[in-house]
Amino acid sequence: MKRVVMKFGGTSVGNGEHIRHVASLISNHLNKDYQMVVVISALKRVTDKLIEASKEAKSGNRDHVHKLLQKTTKKHVAAARNAIKNKQIRDEVEQTLKTILDELEKVLTGIIYLGELTPKSKDYVLSFGERMSTLIVWGALRDLGLNVQYFTGKDAGIVTDSNFGEARPLIKVTLHEVKQKVEPLLEKGIIPVVTGYIAANQDGEITTLGRGGSDYTATIIAAALEADEVWIWTDVDGLMTSDPKIVPSTKVISELSFQEAIELAIFGAKAMHPKALEPAMEKEVPVRIRNTFNPQSLGTLIVKEQKIKAKDVVKGTTIIKNLALINISGAGMVGTPGTAAKVFDMLGKNNINVLMISQSASEANISFILHRDGLERAVSTLEIALLGSGLIREVTAEDDVCVVAVVGAGMKGTPGVAARLFGAIARKGLNVRMIAQGSSELNISFVVKETDGEKAVRAIHEEFKL
Ligand code: ADP
Ligand code: ASP
Ligand code: MG
Repeated sequence: MKRVVMKFGGTSVGNGEHIRHVASLISNHLNKDYQMVVVISALKRVTDKLIEASKEAKSGNRDHVHKLLQKTTKKHVAAARNAIKNKQIRDEVEQTLKTILDELEKVLTGIIYLGELTPKSKDYVLSFGERMSTLIVWGALRDLGLNVQYFTGKDAGIVTDSNFGEARPLIKVTLHEVKQKVEPLLEKGIIPVVTGYIAANQDGEITTLGRGGSDYTATIIAAALEADEVWIWTDVDGLMTSDPKIVPSTKVISELSFQEAIELAIFGAKAMHPKALEPAMEKEVPVRIRNTFNPQSLGTLIVKEQKIKAKDVVKGTTIIKNLALINISGAGMVGTPGTAAKVFDMLGKNNINVLMISQSASEANISFILHRDGLERAVSTLEIALLGSGLIREVTAEDDVCVVAVVGAGMKGTPGVAARLFGAIARKGLNVRMIAQGSSELNISFVVKETDGEKAVRAIHEEFKL
């Protein structure tokens, strides 16, 4: 008996027809002696629409909110009707959907009246996407005669801190609670169907695990149940050597280590939530990324053991856009301990997240990368705090850069990778603004103009024959 947690992303549950297909995929595995837990994301694009609705409600745009609600209702009712054939089950699901949508309308009306959207109320609004999609999948599975039970993340035992919007599971309690609540069902042959992305804090208030967080729900549950594997079902054949939208010839990476996958995910390979790999890595539960629409393909397997093969020193390359570069210079920084600490302390206190840092050995300048929308705030913060101090002479900024990251465990201890990499970039005439290599040697990241980013990714693809 194999225990598998399967997560279906929004791309897998776009409409009723796809939900039926997902239900039959699940059902097919029943014959193969599997114990299964199913985790479901909101229908495609629904979370984006809920974010939009909450913002419009805050601004008091009643009509816009009303239109969004109508569309959401239509989408979910249509999905339920197409996904579920049995009239009794379909009526029951539709009735519950109506109740949920009434509640959503009340919440949004409340926000309109208050003119206020707190992180807590926003998470509450966002929870509706998964509550509705999971209900429909639950109905579709019952329709196929499967023995299923619906759970919200909270009912399944996922307890988080109160960092609404990006909540972290309180892992000890969660592992214990999930095991208590979910495992007995598996033993009885029941399939738990759980809402992805949403959980609750210790006061029982709804939290969300950050965008793409259903992956995280799946690995948390898998860790708690000591599952044999986690399957992340999506709309591509697996984790690719780069975003298929940039490099059409991109290939599926058949196997990689948790460390490599985490690096790729942090640097923007969207197919996997970076934090989601932690619980799986901790409990050594292999994660497989598979294509819902091409289930024959084996997908990508993420495992603990790194298979270093000389021929694939580089596993993949990713790009993060919408970034800015700040450069601080001044002879006053040379040999003055604590300058860097002061700079990053100021930024931290102002909630500005720094993605990449480099300092030249002369110590006369520090460069770093941040998200573009924080640029103005960062520059004025630094100017106010530091310019008068004599420590620095100048703060300059560029608002049109991106980071390209190159990942692969095989780069460790393989001489000449950096030379090949930057040789390939130089031959395309691209100017590198900044370079950083983590001490793990798993990742080399560099900064180029945003308009050069995709060219750089393609150059790397050619050079390393990805
Ligand atoms: P889901 O709804 O299944 O969670 P996501 O949109 O979160 O799907 O992630 C899947 C998408 O990630 C793919 O459709 C693909 O376009 C995009 N993507 C970006 N980079 C990569 C990559 N390196 N490998 C695979 N997919 C990638
Ligand atoms: N529905 C959520 C999102 O769009 C979570 C997920 O899809 O994993 O971010
Ligand atoms: Mg996702």
